[in-house]
Amino acid sequence: MTERLEIVFLGTGSPLPSADRCGAGNVVVAGDTNVLVDCGWGAARRLVPAGVRPASIGVALFTHMHTDHMTDVPDFLFQRWTGGATVPLRVFGPEGTQEMIDGFLLALRRDIGYRQAHHGDKLHPDGIRVEVTEVPATLEPHQFLRMGGLSFESFEVDHFPVVPAFGYRVRFGGRSAVLSGDTAFCETLAAAAEGADMLVCEALNAGMVNQLIGMLRFAGREREAALMEDVPSYHIATGEIAALAARAGVGEVVLSHLIPPIPNDAEREAEFMAGMDATYRGRVRVARDMQRIEVTRRRA
Ligand SMILES: [Zn+2]
Ligand SMILES: [Zn+2]
Repeated sequence: MTERLEIVFLGTGSPLPSADRCGAGNVVVAGDTNVLVDCGWGAARRLVPAGVRPASIGVALFTHMHTDHMTDVPDFLFQRWTGGATVPLRVFGPEGTQEMIDGFLLALRRDIGYRQAHHGDKLHPDGIRVEVTEVPATLEPHQFLRMGGLSFESFEVDHFPVVPAFGYRVRFGGRSAVLSGDTAFCETLAAAAEGADMLVCEALNAGMVNQLIGMLRFAGREREAALMEDVPSYHIATGEIAALAARAGVGEVVLSHLIPPIPNDAEREAEFMAGMDATYRGRVRVARDMQRIEVTRRRA
């Protein structure tokens, strides 16, 4: 068995429409185990081109109940089922996760019946079932899942008024990665990221957001401009990420969930990260949809 720990980026965008960046979703690949973390719009369709068979995913985690982290759940469940799943999907997430899953399964109820009527026992009845465990919100990292040498811990982050919202820390083969979830700068994220080999962090570029607000206002789209003005209050700006990463001594930083969702363009990505190197000396990069990045040991 291989001991590689990798993060597959399914969606590196946000709720804002983007041709290049879908809603939030990652697969943590630890040896032979695939764990889905969030499943926002478009994330399910990224699985196969990103090299992950939907039916190979036995566990899914959710960070919070914003649409851009969950609306591809129905498509994922069906891809997994028709892709040959024979066991229920195990789902973990904050309070609200059970209700979200129940709601999607209710919406799918008729089609589940149609598929079973059409295909009979070629579709395993357990393959479309979901077993949900809601994880208590804790400020300190709390281990809620262990599969062999792979473990996951949750910790609460500050995405107010979305309460609770989680970040996750994964450990495997002597390496660790922290996935921020959606959050403003907060001490719980800084503490969880302490000494991590990789921080996968949501990211807001304040200058670009202000530029976008100005463009919307110039185009007479006042309501959208006013809504955008609320966005920075519950996200973390690139400068804050650099400060947090430097303080926590993380090995490297990968930016995902970009606000605004710039196109796949090296120059725009460099612009997005500009200035971070003044505070943080480690490697910083912007992830793209369907990219696969290995978590390697942090250099001392
Ligand atoms: Zn989000
Ligand atoms: Zn959110």
